[in-house]
Amino acid sequence: MGATTLDLSRASKAPVIPNLSGMTRDELRQAIIDAGVADAAKARMRASQVWRWIHHYGVTDFALMSDVAKDTRAKLTQAFSIARPEVVERQVSKDGTRKWLIRFAPGIEAETVYIPDVGRAGALCVSSQVGCTLNCSFCHTGTQALVRNLTAAEIVAQVQVARDDLGEWPSPKEDRKLSNIVFMGMGEPLYNLDNVASAIDIIADNEGIAISRRRITVSTSGVVPMIPELGARTATMLAISLHATNDLLRNELVPLNKKYPIEDLMAAIRSYPGLGNARRVTFEYVMLKGVNDSPAEARALVKLLKGVPAKINLIPFNPWPGSQYECSDWATIEKFAAELNRAGYASPIRTPRGRDILAACGQLKSESEKIRASALRAMVSVD
Ligand code: SAH
Ligand code: SF4
Repeated sequence: MGATTLDLSRASKAPVIPNLSGMTRDELRQAIIDAGVADAAKARMRASQVWRWIHHYGVTDFALMSDVAKDTRAKLTQAFSIARPEVVERQVSKDGTRKWLIRFAPGIEAETVYIPDVGRAGALCVSSQVGCTLNCSFCHTGTQALVRNLTAAEIVAQVQVARDDLGEWPSPKEDRKLSNIVFMGMGEPLYNLDNVASAIDIIADNEGIAISRRRITVSTSGVVPMIPELGARTATMLAISLHATNDLLRNELVPLNKKYPIEDLMAAIRSYPGLGNARRVTFEYVMLKGVNDSPAEARALVKLLKGVPAKINLIPFNPWPGSQYECSDWATIEKFAAELNRAGYASPIRTPRGRDILAACGQLKSESEKIRASALRAMVSVD
């Protein structure tokens, strides 16, 4: 940790050049005025031009903004950055799964995973924090010492890096490889809602990356008071990491449940805006051998979800060194799924992806800790 600590202190003293990629349209316009790049009268038009270059064309160099005057470009270069963070590792699986380890700053790293054939075409699993302050007992991220919120620019950068690699600039209107985004990487998005909401405003903007809010899913472990705000501010799809159907067990698996028990959680979910058959809540349920995987628990799950437009995502547990759980046997998972099928839920188990590159959406693989991610939990199921 010594070197990392040193690096961090050095980084904090360096002057921070704001990255325009993380600014919403309004913020971008204001920043341009504040930096003396354009006066108030011209700022909206300038911001629009710059926005298109960054978010539609994906450029990382102001010099390429050919319809922006040279002196304006020079001013922009002085005041701002549009550079990408460093990709320290890139892996591509035989099945098309791609994984990038991105270094945002010294010691601040997160993994972003692209999973083909999920959602409309392919889903990108993004992180909202490095580490997590919650300590779900089956999750490796929760054991990471270093925690910091990712900025809006750093969240947007994960999409930009994926787009760079997939060759999806300028932003294609049709036949995209990257069609969906899931906030199922590291961190609890609802503990970083300001940055997550800004990033979503940017990603969903029609004159840019243009991934519609209905194709963006935010997963939470159940930060009940923030759920209405998530709906109001982002209008995205909601996913809930449920994992248990009674408070006793959920307290153990997701300790946040002690603060916000299942009944309160379900009430918040029911009032999420816009729910219906075309807009269902995804319930994530990690399959832990002998812990939460009995047919009786499957029936309890069906009962609990009654009246909620829901789909269920069974996630085979992904073991990590020192974890106290095992993944349920395949036959047990199938039996569990069969109970759900009987109640009308579509078969929720998906085949593991990216096994050969050990891609595990949401599990940090830092330089110091290489996590064995055999049973890929990229079981991300989105429409
Ligand atoms: N913090 C948010 C989003 C990130 S975690 C949340 O908890 O919802 C994304 C999903 O992966 C969650 O459902 C989480 O419970 C699950 N998960 C975490 N560790 C896992 C593991 N080792 N195996 C399988 N799923 C895991
Ligand atoms: Fe955090 Fe989600 Fe992991 Fe729980 S499951 S520790 S909330 S990242």
